[in-house]
Amino acid sequence: MGLEKYQKMFFEKIRKTFCQWRSKECIEEKELYRFLHTLKGTAGSIGLEEVAKTVNEKLSSLSEDSHTIWPTEKWEHFIAPICNLDEYTGHKIIKKEDSQVEISNPQITNSSELDKEFILIIDDDLEFITYTKDLLERQGYSVIVATNGKKGLNLIYDLRPSFICIDIHLPDMNGFNILMRILKKAKKTFIPIAIISADDKVTHRIQTYKLGALDFIAKPINPDIFLAYINNRLEFKQELEQLIVIDELTQVYNRKYMKERLNALIKEYERLGSIFTLVILDLDFFKQVNDTYGHLKGDEVLISFSKIVTQEKREHDIFCRYGGEEFVLLLPNSQASDAHYLMERIKNSLAETPFESDNGSFFVTFSAGIISVNLENLHPEKLLELGDQALYFAKESGRNRSITYHPEINLKKSRREVTIIIVDDDKLIRSMLKNFFSSWTPSNAYTIKVIDFEDGIDFLSSSWYQSSNKYMILLDGIMPNLDGLEVLKEIRKNYDHKDILVSMLTGRTGEEHVIKALELGADDYIVKPFDTNEVAKRVFRLIKRVFT
Ligand code: GH3
Ligand code: MG
Ligand code: MG
Repeated sequence: MGLEKYQKMFFEKIRKTFCQWRSKECIEEKELYRFLHTLKGTAGSIGLEEVAKTVNEKLSSLSEDSHTIWPTEKWEHFIAPICNLDEYTGHKIIKKEDSQVEISNPQITNSSELDKEFILIIDDDLEFITYTKDLLERQGYSVIVATNGKKGLNLIYDLRPSFICIDIHLPDMNGFNILMRILKKAKKTFIPIAIISADDKVTHRIQTYKLGALDFIAKPINPDIFLAYINNRLEFKQELEQLIVIDELTQVYNRKYMKERLNALIKEYERLGSIFTLVILDLDFFKQVNDTYGHLKGDEVLISFSKIVTQEKREHDIFCRYGGEEFVLLLPNSQASDAHYLMERIKNSLAETPFESDNGSFFVTFSAGIISVNLENLHPEKLLELGDQALYFAKESGRNRSITYHPEINLKKSRREVTIIIVDDDKLIRSMLKNFFSSWTPSNAYTIKVIDFEDGIDFLSSSWYQSSNKYMILLDGIMPNLDGLEVLKEIRKNYDHKDILVSMLTGRTGEEHVIKALELGADDYIVKPFDTNEVAKRVFRLIKRVFT
């Protein structure tokens, strides 16, 4: 990515600010602090690591809230090293590409693999969270943090992490309590769980093992050992997964088996011309089932649904749990119309199956996308993608129905539209992110729209929100008129949480700020300086997990 343009803008901004300051007699220290703070975040993101370093050194001697007066002479002298850098940047600019060799673990560079390495940390210890998140992300893992037990429990279901770290002392519950609640499920999917605590008592260790967690890790951690450890456990998990073809909860085939059979069916079509049809089934409003009746009831629904499909399908049809509340049916020697009849039978059977709860009984429905193989879609990923588009079209058309894919289905309706909103007072960051995301096509399943605001107040007072649309908001932590945290508070207070993902862009790592953001409902945070590609990767993973 060409960073020169942004570097030019960056120095232009410095020049302008200094001009403005010179026109006054003096400035307050906090003004200086704030400006340098923004510079630090920006410089590092646009390949000016040297500048970022110098600014950072300068920052450490300033105080964020100080009203101390700085006459022009004094601040000019103070920031001289930064201006000097400006003059010989022609030689000093370090290209982002060169300085980023350490990042990205070759093991997990293809996108389906990436999807697996999602690590959830349930911990309210700020130092630990920020340090560990940074450590793991440098290795290419994605880390999501929950600062209390309740949020952690929800994330386990929503994001399906591949590794979970739990702290013992949490603000709302005890880590062992969480462990007991998720252990059965985690074991079935081989998700390793570690209790991580500074409270390294013999009794804690014993309890950890007795309850069935894999490990007890004492804080502070040694980074090298910790990385080797995580890698070890994830590899072991993958090896176990290789052996398994049945989904533990529903007792139908799993995703891995489905992929094998799909490949085999495609080969058969190529060889003998035997057609087949693929159907993706997804329960409607399943999140509501969980929210209203609890996750255990949700599990029960998944089991019953699987039983119904298994009863209705033909012997040789292959039924698999694709993930969460999504299933795939492979129907050998069948046309789309055959699939449609089968869906009707399942629909009727499900409509006759009430689920009992403390507040009376309820029913569930499902939607389905159907696609038959032909010469143009002869590829497993392609078939799944087209099936998914048809499914999404079925959802958008009112749910509780099945739709067969055909090229004329309204493309707009068959794609998930996600609006990325950038709120940052730094014009540079804004235009860099906007530029990037405007031409970003993470997958055919999404249409991306980008809007940006330079101010929290402008953003909140605009008519950005439309119910049932999906949003990913990249929100700057520090802005002059309304702080990012205040904006976050307003978003969470006034809008439906499940449609809006918020990632805080923060220049303050080791500070209360991050914890505050997470407590206020941020889904993630990204530390400035950042690499736009890394931001995109994180955004995509979040969108994919939450908006499908
Ligand atoms: P839509 O009609 O658009 O499909 O809405 P939805 O609520 O069904 O879809 P969404 O994808 O938003 O929610 C799926 C939910 O399924 C989110 C997650 O918490 C839940 N889930 C995933 N796996 C499991 C599981 O194994 N057990 C339970 N109980 N819930 C699960
Ligand atoms: Mg659903
Ligand atoms: Mg779903």
